[in-house]
Amino acid sequence: MSRPDLSIDRITRSRRNVFASVRLDRLAEYRDDPEWVEKALLSDAARFVPLWRNRNLLADGTDGQVAVYLKPGEIDRPDTVQPPTLLGTDGKRYFFALSINDSQQEDILKARPEAGFLDLRLASMDMDAKHAGVLAYAKALHYWQYRHAFCGICGHVNRLESSGHKLVCSNEECGRESFPRIDPAIIVLVTHENACLLGRNTTWPEKRFSTLAGFVEPGESLEDALVREVYEEAQVSLKDIRYVSSQPWPFPASAMCGFHAESVSRECGATEEMEEVRWFTVEDLDAAISLDNVRLPPPVSIAFRLIADWYRQQCGEDLGERIRHAGSWVSRKGIK
Ligand SMILES: [Zn+2]
Repeated sequence: MSRPDLSIDRITRSRRNVFASVRLDRLAEYRDDPEWVEKALLSDAARFVPLWRNRNLLADGTDGQVAVYLKPGEIDRPDTVQPPTLLGTDGKRYFFALSINDSQQEDILKARPEAGFLDLRLASMDMDAKHAGVLAYAKALHYWQYRHAFCGICGHVNRLESSGHKLVCSNEECGRESFPRIDPAIIVLVTHENACLLGRNTTWPEKRFSTLAGFVEPGESLEDALVREVYEEAQVSLKDIRYVSSQPWPFPASAMCGFHAESVSRECGATEEMEEVRWFTVEDLDAAISLDNVRLPPPVSIAFRLIADWYRQQCGEDLGERIRHAGSWVSRKGIK
């Protein structure tokens, strides 16, 4: 069975994943201290991470997309939509996520003509991992706040508290509190001897093959979900499972739990979810990439990381380099 590199501890292994590399101190102890938060908001060290319609503000830099953080004076009436959400500090600056309305968005783009509100999933293919993590963190909280604007019990408006990390029902008789929600999902590279199993979902971009994945259902362990999903998607039975690493995936609100698993045999079959599932040896994968018959998931995804780790274990080579060499991958303008 393919085994993760045990010389790398699991904390480091997960931090290699894009969106997991945030090094902010989240300052949770100050979230309920309005005086401290107000002071931080008004200080020169305050930086806003603006979100408009769940899109992040980015600009073209010399080495790819860069996050654009705004200073307090750059935003007119910052609290007209929602109070800022305290994200944390990098030791020099205090970061706040900030919801932007349409007119504020226009003002920001006028003042920053080089910037744009972009889809983070595409933009993150080509940006510094740390900043991708800050933007993903802000986006995840923003999504949760908007999706839970009303109380799920009595239907009254929810009020943001704890500097954006808690919602409280405004109906005093109810007062229900709710906290950010995350949907756990499993993602797995299944192997058998010297081959790995990749599948193709009908809804994916042309020629895309990737690992198998699915949401954990109520009443399931991660392992139960993994065994069920792999059988549902590929009719493959597993004999061993090994946890590798995890990744926050705010598209819209998942925590991806990544595994390698060993199949009992090479038997597999297409299913309702997957139009094709196929075993690939390193040679098969090399040939498919060279001929542009297979396009793997983007390098920001844990799916790619799981495949690349297996590839390195099999042949000692870097899969990212192999794909760049073949020229059939992603460009900064999106998927080729
Ligand atoms: Zn309520």
